[in-house]
Amino acid sequence: MAPLATTVLRLFNKQQSSNSLTINVVLDAPTTGQSATTQVNGKAIITALSDTRFDDIQIKFVGNAATTVARTIAVPGGQSQGKHCFLIMDQRNLRPMFPSSNQLRTSESLTLPFNFTLPSCLPSRSCTHEVEGPAVREGHLLLPPSLNDGHASRTATAASDDLAPSTARICYRLKIAVLEKDAEDPLWFAPLAEISMPIHVSPVTQQSLPLYTSVAERAEISRTTKELKKSSYCHAVGSLTAYLLQPPGLSLDTGYGEEGNAMAADVFLHFNPAFPESPPPRLKQVTSALKATTYFSSKGMADFPNDIACLSDISQHRYSAKVQKFAFTCNVSGWKEHGNGGDVNYSTKVTVPVVLPSNKHMLPSFCSCLISRQYTLQVRLYQSSVQRTPLVEVEMPIQIYR
Ligand SMILES: [Zn+2]
Repeated sequence: MAPLATTVLRLFNKQQSSNSLTINVVLDAPTTGQSATTQVNGKAIITALSDTRFDDIQIKFVGNAATTVARTIAVPGGQSQGKHCFLIMDQRNLRPMFPSSNQLRTSESLTLPFNFTLPSCLPSRSCTHEVEGPAVREGHLLLPPSLNDGHASRTATAASDDLAPSTARICYRLKIAVLEKDAEDPLWFAPLAEISMPIHVSPVTQQSLPLYTSVAERAEISRTTKELKKSSYCHAVGSLTAYLLQPPGLSLDTGYGEEGNAMAADVFLHFNPAFPESPPPRLKQVTSALKATTYFSSKGMADFPNDIACLSDISQHRYSAKVQKFAFTCNVSGWKEHGNGGDVNYSTKVTVPVVLPSNKHMLPSFCSCLISRQYTLQVRLYQSSVQRTPLVEVEMPIQIYR
């Protein structure tokens, strides 16, 4: 066991006494890093630097989400903020361990153990705003992962960037406070000393499909049809349709690795020639990218967020970051010919590797009241390696889970 956080806080009662307490927190096991965390156990050691009387000690584990949304349309330059305390757990039965008369003599220490088991589901009071259906409520009541909590800056080995904007944060904290009653209002307690310690939480999530998007939206973005022309002055030589089938989710435990090892997605291509003699297009270059989108709102989101709803709702915002861009050469020559005579068409497929980027701190897909994280696989097909404009581009939501 190693002490992970120590703080010394001065006693700040009304008399500005020189007395003080120290609170030392010792956690039983490391609670940072990529591994899933379900237990936060340890002890708080409270030491008096001078004779100190207290009225209560509270040990809590809390989860908070905070957002800032720029309101550029309604209030130019203004912004709205969202705050949501979705989890509060209290350590019970501390009182029997208090010293007699709640008095700590100089240099005396009081050790209080704490044991918190993180729930996979939040209490129903955590999400009481209006939602479109039970699936949304179910998603909002799952324990969200820590997001943009500065965890990475404290761990040298882990990648620091979790692809979140600075305007959205999910933070879990262990809070310990030694309290005294207010002399004038006995119902009011003031802290003699307190400590707030961030704990990085990476919950286990389920691989559940379909993803957080409407069926219509998924169908629209996962299928693209394009008229092909030799030049802008020519008639179309045919139409090319590309679509992706929903790939399985990417596991945070096995999704890292060499190109092609973790998972592959198939892009299916169909070519309908305008004239029987029009050959299917040659495709030489494929790029694939994983796009992480963080949706955040200043109020509880009623539905699973998507790009279209986000644009029309001034309380919502999104932030996208593209990662792990693969570019590789593929000589698509294996077109299969179907039909005969004047009614001929062609089909083929291109297999695209999908892996998690090892230089980022990847979070599972989640959908909470104020903040949601979704991923999209984006594939572009080019007719040559020097071309800048893709011949065809197709996207598909993809789930990342632990
Ligand atoms: Zn909610």
